[in-house]
Amino acid sequence: MTHQVYIGLGSNLQNPQQQLQHAIDRIREIPATSVILVSPFYGSTAVGPGQQPDYVNAAALLATQLQAHPLLDQLQAIEQQQGRKRGPQQWVPRTLDLDILLFNNEQITSERLQIPHPHMTERNFVLQPLHDLNPDLALPDGRSVQDLLSKLDRQGLWAL
Ligand code: ATP
Ligand code: CA
Ligand code: CA
Repeated sequence: MTHQVYIGLGSNLQNPQQQLQHAIDRIREIPATSVILVSPFYGSTAVGPGQQPDYVNAAALLATQLQAHPLLDQLQAIEQQQGRKRGPQQWVPRTLDLDILLFNNEQITSERLQIPHPHMTERNFVLQPLHDLNPDLALPDGRSVQDLLSKLDRQGLWAL
């Protein structure tokens, strides 16, 4: 069975645009997986505590035969290959962050995985590229990406 998966990509270290481009090339090499669409790239101001460099963000639509957990393994391996340092702290600068945003219309909760991604509804740098990929997209609970996006301000987000 082919799964429709939306992922979010982000980087704010070591030439972020190139990191994202490279990641997309690697994702194309994941077994039984194709990259169907890639959104435009956006610049965004880092959220969370402390100062950090601006991010480059994008989203992509994948078609894959993999289940969500093996797909996460593959995405995390790509993060590692691109020099992601994984420490105890969240929300620190990183060369590459790959999040699974939506997996079909499923809700998945496990120790390693929460889908839909828990913070996506509050993040313009996630919703804007998702909306670019599919303006009719909705979450499993029925909320539309367009509506959620219209409630957020566009501060700290710019087209690249
Ligand atoms: P945020 O979740 O706020 O975007 P982050 O992306 O910086 O933060 P990470 O340090 O990259 O967080 O990931 C921490 C853990 O989140 C991962 O090890 C992974 O197991 C888990 N995780 C839970 N849900 C997801 C998801 N939908 N996509 C990717 N990772 C997830
Ligand atoms: Ca993230
Ligand atoms: Ca992540």
